[in-house]
Amino acid sequence: MTRVAFLGLGAIGAPMAKHLAQPPFELAVWNRTAAKARTFAFSAGTGVRVAKSPADAARGAEFVVLCLPTSQDVDTLLDGAEGLLAGIVRGSMVIDCTSGDPATSRTISARLAAIGVGYIDAPVSGGTAGAEKGTLTVMCGGDEALFERAMPVMRAFGEKIVLCGPTGSGDAVKAVNNALLAVHLWAAGEGLAALTKAGVSPALALDVINASSGGSRTTERLFPERVLSRAFPRTFRLALLDKDVGIAAGVARENKVPSPLLQLTSELFRAAHSMLGEEADHVEAVRVIEQWAGVEIK
Ligand code: NDP
Repeated sequence: MTRVAFLGLGAIGAPMAKHLAQPPFELAVWNRTAAKARTFAFSAGTGVRVAKSPADAARGAEFVVLCLPTSQDVDTLLDGAEGLLAGIVRGSMVIDCTSGDPATSRTISARLAAIGVGYIDAPVSGGTAGAEKGTLTVMCGGDEALFERAMPVMRAFGEKIVLCGPTGSGDAVKAVNNALLAVHLWAAGEGLAALTKAGVSPALALDVINASSGGSRTTERLFPERVLSRAFPRTFRLALLDKDVGIAAGVARENKVPSPLLQLTSELFRAAHSMLGEEADHVEAVRVIEQWAGVEIK
């Protein structure tokens, strides 16, 4: 049995962890809100251990998987009497599935290396549905030997699993991927608001666009299923997409790449996040466009 600790049972963490709640894995879980960890262990229906603290979860684990909102949250979790560093075992490794920022991931990696613990950044894509099916894309950064070692754990929830480069590379790819999602979402929102006001049915417009050169996953899936239906299910918080676009804009700036579109998209999503609050879903950013335009895309 491979002993794994999973910390962070949020919207995507919980369905990822479910795949590790069975042989050949022996799972310990920790969540900041303890009730969620207890509910998880109950519904997993096996011998999942609910740990009292990050240190308690990590004790005895060969792999510690993290899935928190930000790299800063991960860095903070390392410290304190019951923090991760107090329990983690020399020779073990951390698989950080947080969509993080490359610079903080490098700092965390160095802090862990100093006590003989390995680290890879391993953010995921594919949404909560992909997590449930175990078909996530996992984009990793770090040492190749550590990447190979982590493979059996990542295979439990991932399908396409790629080493993108040194530590922080997985974070950088993930941030750019999500910035593209944000660009598509916003641009399609503006375009469809304009078409709706011009008297064209948005369903008909999407049907045409999805058979043409402007279509994307956003127009194929998100608009029909979530906007036109007015369902706006909450699967991935707008606050987290705002964070991701900000990271992508930062990566562009740090590398001295002129990036007016990424910077503007980051500003737009920061504004939408502040208008709609912490719990809004990312697709609800379209509601801001609708409000400005005075039209509903339906
Ligand atoms: P959620 O907001 O649903 O859950 C966040 C989790 O982190 C909860 O378990 C929460 O605990 C915990 N947490 C929050 N702050 C802290 C903290 N300071 N210290 C310790 N634990 C904390 O987020 P998601 O599960 O959606 O996202 C997690 C990561 O995965 C993010 O980086 C996100 O960008 C990424 N991601 C999410 C996807 C999605 O579809 N949802 C898709 C791909 C990537 P508590 O229960 O106490 O609030």
